[in-house]
This record gives sequence, structure tokens and C-alpha cells, in this order.
Amino acid sequence: MPIDFPGGFLPYAEEWEKRISAFIEWRPDAPEPADAAPDGARVPGIAGLPFAVKDNIAVKDFSLSCGSKLLEKFRSPYSATVVRRLEAAGARVIGKTNLDEFGMGSSTDNSALGRTNNPWDTGRVPGGSSGGSAAAVAAGIVPFALGTDTGGSVRQPAAFCGVVGLKPTYGAVSRYGLVAYASSLESAGVLADTVERCRAVFSVIRGPDPLDETSHGAPAAAPPLYPDAGTGRPAAPGGRIGVLSPEAVARALAAAAKDAGGEGGALEAAAQASVLEEETRRGFELAKTRLSGLGYTLVEVEIPSLKYGVPAYYTIATAEASANLARFDSIRYGARPGYAENPDELVDKAREAGFGAEVKLRILLGTFVLRSGFQDRYYLRAQRIRQGIRRGFEALLGDGEYREKAGLDAILMPVFPSRAFGRGPSSLSAFAQKAADLYTCCANLAGLPSLSFPASVEGGLPVGVQILGRACAEGTLLDIAEAYEKKYPFPHPGGYRAFWS
Ligand code: GLN
Repeated sequence: MPIDFPGGFLPYAEEWEKRISAFIEWRPDAPEPADAAPDGARVPGIAGLPFAVKDNIAVKDFSLSCGSKLLEKFRSPYSATVVRRLEAAGARVIGKTNLDEFGMGSSTDNSALGRTNNPWDTGRVPGGSSGGSAAAVAAGIVPFALGTDTGGSVRQPAAFCGVVGLKPTYGAVSRYGLVAYASSLESAGVLADTVERCRAVFSVIRGPDPLDETSHGAPAAAPPLYPDAGTGRPAAPGGRIGVLSPEAVARALAAAAKDAGGEGGALEAAAQASVLEEETRRGFELAKTRLSGLGYTLVEVEIPSLKYGVPAYYTIATAEASANLARFDSIRYGARPGYAENPDELVDKAREAGFGAEVKLRILLGTFVLRSGFQDRYYLRAQRIRQGIRRGFEALLGDGEYREKAGLDAILMPVFPSRAFGRGPSSLSAFAQKAADLYTCCANLAGLPSLSFPASVEGGLPVGVQILGRACAEGTLLDIAEAYEKKYPFPHPGGYRAFWS
């Protein structure tokens, strides 16, 4: 069944798109997919709705550029499992969205195919790397969109644009049809206008997939996704939430910089970059006050090993990226140079012209940390830090090997130290952007689910917070965010109209 666009929607969407350029490919008139839902299989909250897909997730016959010149003309011959499941539930893809090249970045400005603007202030970035998806949802062009989150790429743009962003438990959603950046950290994620919609989309895309060996279903003991669907914990507020205070994190980083003596310069700079700007701190404090007002008990927590989260993340992510991106040789597909003497030169020239600076930097870094004889010094050390961080969260949450312990229901954290930043002089340096991944990348290192939602609007821009939970406890996180949203409805940028109920 074709999508029924409400009167006035297409001009509304096109007007917004002129201002924000969220899409790499915009095709509201795309033909019905072959496995569209028969009427009986249509899922409420999903069926009959359009959605957008980040351009590193495969949709048959659509672009799959990954924001890269190398793949600019490539069209996907098949669809990712997440896309097929949504189509089978009655939803329809109307476009592919802009991203930082291969998902590497925090602003979407690392795309080789254009810039996307933040719907709240078009002089600012939408965040990244799923910036196009977040901007399209925030502007009301689509009620939900798919993104990928390797180190924060769903949650951070969600926070910058004032929408809901879910990074599921590692393996809870199939990665078949995602163009891999760092496979052990990555998850397909949901950007949505409301918590209820986010839950519905997650309920459709999750679950094991024979095409992805790392995918799995939720164990029977996991809290039910829908509170009334089982006997698990009640949806009503009353849980215990740990608060990871940004001050404690900054203190830990500063202490580490001191310990490192003359070699602590980068840690020192990272400590500064992780301090929250005034408005973000206000939003975070407000979220705490509101959550306790809703009946949650808040307790301060600390995870000392978090101070090494960013170096561990960038070591592992670049190592995996250098291996994953080796496939782009422009032999079977991808942009080719006009002339090459021999196949080696063809590959060299294609990669030289096809990849942007950030992608090349990360391939080099990854090759460096993996070079023979040095793995113990970088890669294996990063893996040990990763285990430490995971255990730190599990000890607090009573998960994994700490399952016998009574744990917290969730951990509240900032998403990013600042609100959406600008371009030019008001931008963040490439180093500061990476250091600021601290609050998001630890959920990926730990493999745990995390949900970002708009806490408030400060100085005209949204501030998001995130709650991280036990493995397969997405239901608990959605319950908390839904309680918040019911009392404090999420805001929208000026000019927003709700077309999708
Ligand atoms: N900012 C992070 C990075 O640049 C996030 C990437 C992601 O989640 N895809 O790696």
C-alpha cells in the first residue's frame, strides 16, 4: 500500500530540506518494496509511515554512499535486515540521510557530499555522525529514522537536535546490511520523535537474524520491552538511578594527567574538553531534579577507569576501521581514477582521491596500533581498559558477573559537554570533538544499551541526557524516558508541524 502523504506535507518537507539539507537522496515517490507488509502484518505506530535511513545502511536500489566520494554513485543491490523488518511492518523509506564519512565524526561536516544544518539554528551542526537522520526527525520530515552508533553517533545528534536516540545492547539488532566501521562497537539505532515511537521501532528491528552471527534475542529474565507484556518490573517510576557526575569524570581525568607527568598533555586537554558548558550543566541538573520529582532515587556513582575511555575507544575503533575499510579498492565497485598503470596504482589512486582526510587519518592510526610487535602496547591494552569499563558498569548495575548483587536500574550521564556547536570560530577542534566522545563511547565499549532524550531547552538549543542500563534492559530505559516525557513533553524547533501521529 503506498504512503498517504497528508495534505501540505510535501511542500513542508521540501521547504525544511532547503534549509537543513538532511538528505543525500530524497525519494518520497520510491516504488513499493517487494516485501512490503500484507495488511495483516502492519504494526501500529509504524505502518503507513515514512522513514529515513542513514546512508551507510543498505536499502535496495537506493544510494549507499556512506558520505564518501568513493561510493557516491554506488547503489545498493539489497536491503539491510533492519530496513526489511520495518518495511514488512508497513513503513516506507523516503530517503537516505547525510553522515560523517563512514560514520567518523561528531558533526556530519566530515561528509564529502554536503553539509547538514541543525533545525534549531541553521548556523550550527546537527551533531554526528547520524546528523542527517536526527535533523530530519527534528524537523518533522519523518517520525523516525535509522542511524548507527559506534561511539555515540545516534545519541549525540539526537541530543543536538532534541529527539530521542536509542543505542541498543550490542547484538540486540542485526548488523546485516550496515557498512562496517568498527564492528565490535557498532549497533544500528533509532532516532524518533517520541519515546513510544522509539519503542515501537525497536520492537520491530530487534531480535536474532541468521544473517548476523552476533545477533541475539533478549533472555527470558530481561525486563519486558512493553511494561504490561510480562511480570517484570513495573513501568511506574520508583527505581534507583546512579548519576555519573561530570565533575567526578573531569577530576579523574585531571588526576590522570598529573600522574602522567610530562606525557599528560593530551589528558590535560581532554580534561578541559570534557567539562560541561554552563547551559549543558543546567540541563543535566534539571534532569536530575525532575527525575527525583518523578519518584526515582538518585545516587552519585563513579567509574574510575572511564578516564581512559576515549583513548581505548579510538585505539579499538581505528584498528577495526583500518581492517574494515580495506575492502574499498574500487576494483569491483567504487569510483576509479581516469588512468592507472597497473592494479596497484589503481587502488592507490582510488583511495587517495576517494577518502577524506579524517578517514585516512583513522586508517593510518589503526594500522599504527596494529603493527607487528606493538599490539601489546596499544591494542591489547585498550582491550583490557575496555573490560575494566564494562565491569565498572556491570558492578553498578548488578549485571554480568555481578548478577547476584542488587544493582541500580540505570545510570544517568551527560551526552556531550556542549549543545550543538557552530561552524568557523565557534566550532570545536577535531581534538576536542574526540575528547568529548567520553560520555557516549563507554556504552559502546561496554556493549550496554543507552538512550538519549531531550531534558530541556537552554538558550534556544536542546540539551539531551542519556541513561545507560543492563544488557537487554532497553525496556527499563524507555520506561524512564517515557515517564519524563509524559510530565515534560519534548520540545520542537520553530516552524515544526506534527504530520505523523
Ligand atoms: N564521534 C565518534 C567517532 O567519530 C562516533 C562515531 C560513531 O558512533 N559512528 O568515532
